[in-house]
Amino acid sequence: MNESYDVAVVGRGIVGLAHALAAAKNGLRVVVVDRTEHATGASIRNFGFVTVTGQERHEMWPLALRAKQIWTEVALRAKIEVQQTGLVMSARRPAAAAILEAFMATEMGEGCELLTHKQLAARHPAVPYQPCAAALVSSHELRIEAREAIPALANWMRAELGVDFAEPASVIGCTQGRVVTSSGTIKADSIFVCPGDDLNALYPEVMAAHAVTRCKLQMLRLAAPAYRLPSPVMSDLGIMRYEGYSALPGAASLAMQLHDEQARAVAAGVHLIVAQSADGSLVVGDSHDYGDAPDPFIHEAIDELILDEFNAVLGTPPPTVERWMGVYASSSKQNWFTEQVETGVHVTVVTCGAGMSTAFAIGERVVEKALNQKIREIA
Ligand SMILES: Cc1cc2nc3c(=O)[nH]c(=O)nc-3n(C[C@H](O)[C@H](O)[C@H](O)COP(=O)(O)OP(=O)(O)OC[C@H]3O[C@@H](n4cnc5c(N)ncnc54)[C@H](O)[C@@H]3O)c2cc1C
Repeated sequence: MNESYDVAVVGRGIVGLAHALAAAKNGLRVVVVDRTEHATGASIRNFGFVTVTGQERHEMWPLALRAKQIWTEVALRAKIEVQQTGLVMSARRPAAAAILEAFMATEMGEGCELLTHKQLAARHPAVPYQPCAAALVSSHELRIEAREAIPALANWMRAELGVDFAEPASVIGCTQGRVVTSSGTIKADSIFVCPGDDLNALYPEVMAAHAVTRCKLQMLRLAAPAYRLPSPVMSDLGIMRYEGYSALPGAASLAMQLHDEQARAVAAGVHLIVAQSADGSLVVGDSHDYGDAPDPFIHEAIDELILDEFNAVLGTPPPTVERWMGVYASSSKQNWFTEQVETGVHVTVVTCGAGMSTAFAIGERVVEKALNQKIREIA
């Protein structure tokens, strides 16, 4: 590892790849280093759901709009199949429908429609949408198969943009101009550390200052049903978990109702996302369990709560064919942060469950700012 690069990125998850992409697009020589040969973290365990509608209004929503543009370009160039577009947010309760009405009155309602159940059912007669008070149909989202898309993205960046991927190695420290790994040192003018939920290996004090902990989620894959979902589907429990809705008037009354009627689901952080893969199978989740060391086990009772919500929104769920869990970095303090920890060394972490939806825009912003700063320092 005696080569010298303009940029080194630690972490081959979506956040690291986003920084590498932004740097490579600027014509820089980039290397990515990770302890594993293939991504195995949150970035391949998620729904692959690039969500715009429902993101926090002032910062995350514009970032997601920009990230979606980048996903669209990259998917085309890297031959990553966009398997679904848009979103159907089914409001089971009038209190949830009222929040969607409030949402439609904001700038975030652009590109969305509010339908009655009858209108929704008429639009997609083959889909067994269960009765709802209203449904928000958004045109903004796209959905890719994360476990295929992340490796495809890395391969394309290697082949077409000349990004190097170093032999697997743990990074044990970074100093100005150097990434020290378990198998040698890599020289690079700028270093972007994107370690995801790894709280302790690098910069634990930065993680602590940003109140970063972990969030564990349970996920299921169900056998292909007879219908095809044009868009991923969500419901009332999700309205309370997405700040773009939950910060709107009326959210408190929905929260109280959910607490009374679905207390166990609320306590387990359950909400519903149903996405559909190219083979017709359904990716369904999820739950939210917070803590620095969440247990690694799949709890049947939580899967049942997820499937209960599926049943209320789309009818009887097909049989489960696969289960897994994923963990992402989480903080109650901010949705993401970037910090220069020493000259030329930056740490970026998305600290909410929206990295697939925002990382491309965050990487672009962080890399641009760092490069501009470097140019100013040289001038
Ligand atoms: C089940 C689940 C569902 C989700 N659904 C969605 C969704 O639908 N839409 C959405 O927008 N977001 C979703 N998310 C969130 C999203 O997946 C994350 O925000 C995002 O993947 C975080 O990316 P990352 O690159 O920071 O982390 P990771 O993908 O975990 O990558 C971090 C990488 O850094 C490497 N690393 C760390 N420390 C070191 C070190 N010292 N040396 C070498 N390598 C190191 C690790 O090996 C790892 O490969 C979901 C998350 C989960 C878990």
